[in-house]
Amino acid sequence: MCHAYTIANHHYCYQCNQARANLPACASAVSFVALAVKGEQLARDLWVYKNRWSPAARTRPQLGLAALLWRWLAHHEECLATAAGVNKFPVVTTVPSTTGREEHPLDAIVGTVIGATAERFRPLLHPGARNDDDREFSAKRFDVDTPAQAVNTTPVLLIDDTFTSGAHAQSAAARLIDASYGPVAILCIGRHFNRNPKGKEFRDDAERYYRDALRLGWDWSRCCLCSQ
Ligand SMILES: [Zn+2]
Ligand SMILES: [Zn+2]
Repeated sequence: MCHAYTIANHHYCYQCNQARANLPACASAVSFVALAVKGEQLARDLWVYKNRWSPAARTRPQLGLAALLWRWLAHHEECLATAAGVNKFPVVTTVPSTTGREEHPLDAIVGTVIGATAERFRPLLHPGARNDDDREFSAKRFDVDTPAQAVNTTPVLLIDDTFTSGAHAQSAAARLIDASYGPVAILCIGRHFNRNPKGKEFRDDAERYYRDALRLGWDWSRCCLCSQ
């Protein structure tokens, strides 16, 4: 589901198996704009755009990420819809911060800056009571605005900035599905990637995956769903 490398004979990686085991439902499709390699520019921008103390320092990566997401959606939102088995997503929402951040710049990007999503944006999810373990897959991590009858079973595009284990995005998807929204497709700007995981066997696999990704290079006409 997360497009990570898997070890021999395993269809899903460890984290996706955790999601499947612990959540009543998962997203119908998952995609990413790009790999966010730890220590490289995209991973850094995805941190700076919301965490830098100085508003001026946050502005440049905010604009860059908005432009990146906007253009990517123009090319590949349709790929996500196809993978989720729907024609389009009438509702777009974001995974809320569980760190107590009140105004999240991703909401401004999706809800105001990007014309293609602004009209469809609805902040459906809120941090729930259970957020003690950041890696935990649990639908209780989030509360959701109960849909009016008319929007029941509405396909939702769920956007987040960084996908690490998937615990945030998949738990949010499960909560939406539990409230009768869906199908839900997850789009994260950056697929967090660590080239130096603990353990030599994992490091070798990670390095191979990284080299393969570098060899593919960047192409606006390709995403991880339509290039398969
Ligand atoms: Zn996975
Ligand atoms: Zn595509």
